[in-house]
Amino acid sequence: MTRAAANIPDNTALLCEFCGYNLTGLPQEGRCPECGRPVADSLPHWRGPCAWEQARSPADLGRFIRTSAAVLFRPSRFYRTLATRLDSPRGRLFGRIYLLVASILFATAAAFHLDWFLKLTGTRFPLAISWVLLVVLCDGFLIGVTSLASRLTTWEATYRGLRLPLGVVQRGMDFHAIHYLVPGLVAATTVLGYQWLLYHGHLGADSGSVYLYVLCGQIILFAGYLFQTYWIAMRNMMYANA
Ligand SMILES: [Zn+2]
Repeated sequence: MTRAAANIPDNTALLCEFCGYNLTGLPQEGRCPECGRPVADSLPHWRGPCAWEQARSPADLGRFIRTSAAVLFRPSRFYRTLATRLDSPRGRLFGRIYLLVASILFATAAAFHLDWFLKLTGTRFPLAISWVLLVVLCDGFLIGVTSLASRLTTWEATYRGLRLPLGVVQRGMDFHAIHYLVPGLVAATTVLGYQWLLYHGHLGADSGSVYLYVLCGQIILFAGYLFQTYWIAMRNMMYANA
C-alpha cells in the first residue's frame, strides 16, 4: 500500500484525461506523447459542478431532472465534465434521494413477492408491515453496499497508483445512485405485473417457475448493468484534473 501510494500523482499534476499520462510541464498547444490527444482537452476548465449544483435553489426541479437524465442517458459525458473534487452537499443529497426511491421500489417488489410466496405456503403476514421493514432494510443495504464499494475502489486504485481518493469515488457514487432506479422499476413492475395477471386469471398457478426464472435473469442482467455504469463513472473520473 505504502509503496503504491507513493506513485499516485498529486492534485497539482496535469494528467491526460484519456490515458492518464502525466502532462505536467508540457505546452498547452501540444499533444499527449502517449495517446496523441491535445493537451488542451485535459485542462481543468472542462469540468465543473453539474446543472443541479449550479441552480440557485435545490428546489429547481428542471435542473434536477436535467442532471438525472444526463447521468442516466449520457453517463460518459456527465462524468467526463463533472468537477470531482467538490465537497457538495447537493451531490450527496442527489445520491440520498435516489437510494431512498430505489429502496422503496425494491421493497415494493420484495414485499409483494414475499406475500405471493407466503400465500403459497398458507402463511399470512401483514403486507404493510413487511413493506415498511423492507424499505428500511433495502435502504440500509444500499447505503452499506455503496460505502463498501467506494472504499474497495479507493483501496484498489491506491494499489494501482490511480488518483481516486475516497471523496472523489463517493462523489461518483452519489450520482451513480440513480442507476439503482432502473432495476428497482423493472423488479417492481415484474412482481406487481405478475400478480395482477395471476389474480385476474390470465396466468395459471403453474406459471410460478417461469416468474422465478425471469426474476433470476433480471438479477444477473442488472448486476452487469450496475457494474458497467459504475465503471463508466470511475473510468471518467480517475484521470480528472479538477
Ligand atoms: Zn494521453
